Amino acid sequence: MLDRLHGTVYSHTMPIRVLDQTVASQIAAGEVVERPASVVKELVENSLDAGATRIEVETRGGGVELIRVGDDGSGIGRDELGIAFDRYATSKLSDIDDLQSIATFGFRGEALPSITVVARVEVVTCAAGETSGETLTLDQGKVIDSRRGARSRGTTVAVSGLFRTVPARLKFLKSASTENSHVARVVSRYALAFPEVSFSLTIDGRKVVTTPGGGRLVDSVVAVYGADIAAKMLTIGDGAEPSGGGITVTGMVSPPELTRANRDYLNFFVNRRAIGSRLLAWAVEQAYHGMLMTGRHPLAIIDITLPPSEVDVNIHPTKAEVRFRNERAVFAAVQKTVRSRLMDLPPTTGWQPRPFPMTGISERGAGYSPDRQSGSGPVAPLWPAPPPTETAATTPQAPLVSLPALRVIGQVAASYIVAEGPDGVYLIDQHAAHERVLFEQIKRQRAERKLEVQGLLEPASLEVTPAQDEVLKTDHPRLAEFGFTIEPFGERSYLVRAIPALLGGEDWRETLSELLDSGNGGPAADWTERVAITLACHGAVRAGKVLGDDEMRQLIRELESTALARTCPHGRPTVLHISSGQLEREFRRRP
Ligand code: ADP
Ligand code: MG
Repeated sequence: MLDRLHGTVYSHTMPIRVLDQTVASQIAAGEVVERPASVVKELVENSLDAGATRIEVETRGGGVELIRVGDDGSGIGRDELGIAFDRYATSKLSDIDDLQSIATFGFRGEALPSITVVARVEVVTCAAGETSGETLTLDQGKVIDSRRGARSRGTTVAVSGLFRTVPARLKFLKSASTENSHVARVVSRYALAFPEVSFSLTIDGRKVVTTPGGGRLVDSVVAVYGADIAAKMLTIGDGAEPSGGGITVTGMVSPPELTRANRDYLNFFVNRRAIGSRLLAWAVEQAYHGMLMTGRHPLAIIDITLPPSEVDVNIHPTKAEVRFRNERAVFAAVQKTVRSRLMDLPPTTGWQPRPFPMTGISERGAGYSPDRQSGSGPVAPLWPAPPPTETAATTPQAPLVSLPALRVIGQVAASYIVAEGPDGVYLIDQHAAHERVLFEQIKRQRAERKLEVQGLLEPASLEVTPAQDEVLKTDHPRLAEFGFTIEPFGERSYLVRAIPALLGGEDWRETLSELLDSGNGGPAADWTERVAITLACHGAVRAGKVLGDDEMRQLIRELESTALARTCPHGRPTVLHISSGQLEREFRRRP
């Protein structure tokens, strides 16, 4: 069966033959149905195509046990129910020319048949004008039952035992909580794209997302990202006329001070189809040029409307990508719309430097100007810094495990400490160095169960996205080991009572949110390491902060006594060393 594909070594002597029907359809199904979230996507799209105003999604056991999607759409006529499961059976396209103007999600007629060959599917449906509903049950592609029954207008599709007969596929699925968070992401995306449709998602009996369906984007944003974020988001393209190519861009974007560590929060819809697009991500980030710190990304819901003939949706089996006829015009429209909204902001709501407490190093010297942070004023280097590999090559000794005793000379560009050692000059990246120090400290304290915890005076409320909620549910005990005391407090809402002391300040929300975005999926040990890295990164002094002599001395002392002092936990160098010999050579004092 299909798992042979993964286990067989191909032999050229195998005779060519036509695959039997089941194997062929299982292979084809693999293109459309990769994981439970793909089933949810196809079913939700069918409901939207059927004009539903309410869509209820329910999953159990990570979607493998059960996925059920119910809607109040048009229903499937009694005569058509049988055909709906045939390959290439679709009510949405009849002619290849129709593809030019396709306005529905579906048109390939592949979803239902693909799902039925890898699961058991029960459809209950009732079309307008019919007096009773109809139930059809299929297992592994074959009809096993067909009945009449009561039902109001609409369709419910229940998929159970997904991939039961395709163990190779089953094996590649991640933990139930990872699959759940993929499902939550899919439903969240559609909830953001269709504010006029009321969505609900229930995972293992818990209500995870509910949108009112009143047509206001901000309500969907509240439901998906929480009220705090929704209140800060900026509406873009309000009342805008279509640009030259008939392109309109509307939606919401975050102000520059509200950012995330990854691009998961960038949502793009082209004629309301959710797509991934590096081009558009780049267009949005270009609009924030000079406003974001490196490694930070905005949140955005970008709705692009353009004539269907301007976009090809049929380049990908799951239609996750599209091709624009005039890419440049779309790029420009997105960038311009976002940029002009950001330019309207009063200067004070632009991003502000936040103080970062350092453990063991006292807070001193108010840092840097936003200008410098934004990178608009490049600081001339004292001399061209050799890239890390070159440094290793020009320093003959084996990579230093720790550092010699160093004497601080000063600070450059509010980011690098200049120091003298027994053999030449050392340049230390203050952020990277502090990250390494904190990382080692966190690991040691965690192992000894002595991590410093800071209780919050008032428990703080925390709202999480549906995807984060799934991660929090399972990784809660591990976060507790690092000093986060978090209690459930209603639907996707928590109370935080304590945080790791080294985070201090207000930054803990962002750190926690980043942890929940990155969490899960990998082996436990990796995650523990990632938590330590994230905490160290957020707790470390930023580049751009002016440090006093004592602070620099203390940081260097801590770095000297740290193992692996030469790199930060992300693997970037913390120290550049220019040896005395090298200095002599560079100044031609010695051949
Ligand atoms: P496609 O969506 O590409 O047409 P599918 O296999 O997803 O193909 O669905 C086949 C057909 O079944 C659709 O064209 C539609 O007529 C019907 N159908 C599927 N789901 C629904 C639903 N929820 N409501 C009404 N009709 C549906
Ligand atoms: Mg479909």
